[in-house]
Amino acid sequence: MLRFTKSFTQQEALPQAAIDRAVDILQSGRLHRYNLTAGEEGEVALLEAEYAAWQGVPYCVATTSGGTAIQLALRAAGVTPGDKVLANAYTLAPVPGAIYNTGGVPVLVEIDESYHIDLADLRRKAEAHQARYLLLSHMRGHIADMDAICAIAEEFGIIIIEDCAHTMGARYHGIRSGNFGHVAAFSTQTYKHINSGEGGLLTTSDPLIAAKATIMSGSYMLYERHGARPGPEIFDQIKTRMPNFSCRMDHLRAALIRAQLSSLDDTIERWNQLYDRLDENLRQIEGVSLPQRAQAEFYVGSSIQFRPDALSKADIPAFIKGCGDRGVELKWFGADEPVAFTSRYDSWHYLNDDTELPATKRALDKTIDMRVPLTFSEEDCDVITTIIEAVLTEHIAA
Ligand SMILES: *Cc1c(COP(=O)(O)O)cnc(C)c1O
Repeated sequence: MLRFTKSFTQQEALPQAAIDRAVDILQSGRLHRYNLTAGEEGEVALLEAEYAAWQGVPYCVATTSGGTAIQLALRAAGVTPGDKVLANAYTLAPVPGAIYNTGGVPVLVEIDESYHIDLADLRRKAEAHQARYLLLSHMRGHIADMDAICAIAEEFGIIIIEDCAHTMGARYHGIRSGNFGHVAAFSTQTYKHINSGEGGLLTTSDPLIAAKATIMSGSYMLYERHGARPGPEIFDQIKTRMPNFSCRMDHLRAALIRAQLSSLDDTIERWNQLYDRLDENLRQIEGVSLPQRAQAEFYVGSSIQFRPDALSKADIPAFIKGCGDRGVELKWFGADEPVAFTSRYDSWHYLNDDTELPATKRALDKTIDMRVPLTFSEEDCDVITTIIEAVLTEHIAA
């Protein structure tokens, strides 16, 4: 029986440049971002400048995690307790958590069969709730029709905060994901497109949002040591009005991120080779469907989603177990109980929101999710899809 033996959670080693720089930093003992010698440009400030340049925006603030970057983005964009925040219901738990953290009230919006926010439901809920904010999660790298979303936002005066945890490097109509809204958040947690263990980046073109996020990240009055910040006159307007939430990035993690940023385009290309191989193979299996991708979308295929339509929802756990027994680790977004990293909107009970989202449930009912580590080869992708096909055939026959 064919078995796959590689790990679905094994990342590549960090580049030698990251390791060398990390050792230098450790030897210096100066790990805190504001602990600099005279004239020294800190590692975190350099990262902020480089990431802002790569993203094509003037401002960047480095934080402890993607979740804290989202939280700061919401606060800097103006969310205060009681404010309604529209958010697509298909996302990861740190997203509703970040809204909750600000005191904002999430208004969950349906998704469609291609995992995009449902535009009709977005419009309906924007109007019904008079919501001024949209936290748009480009979940699993599926980018919705950004032209339509920006038009709805414009019509209702909505501020867009983009969660780009899965779209670092992705584009829509050639524009980088994160540059559509007023402010964006990225994650450098181990399983995202750059690996620093934990870490986050906030980007924006709005000087006031940048200054607020900087002070709130915990800059004290050392904000001039930030690498991609607005001028002091902007800080003067807000610097004593913003609380310090203490979520700064440190030099060590910044060094790891910088070393990976320089090869990110190459990493993305390798990811897409694996993704496209899996996608092509899966599309050839009878009884399996994959989401539609718009032509305008340039994705980064760090994970793949498919539906074994030939099975009933009740068959899915046995199908996943069958694949797992042969070394193919799959996740299921349709499960009624949260498992590991995967949870469905109706398990976020602290939101005290029992609104039913039937379209989202339908879209997720049979949604299988598979991580695509760069430690896999294209041949590995073939083995994986051969196993998926074999197990599927067995379960259809059963
Ligand atoms: C990982 C993730 C986040 C949060 O990132 P952390 O760095 O883990 O806090 C936010 N949104 C989505 C969709 C994610 O997958």
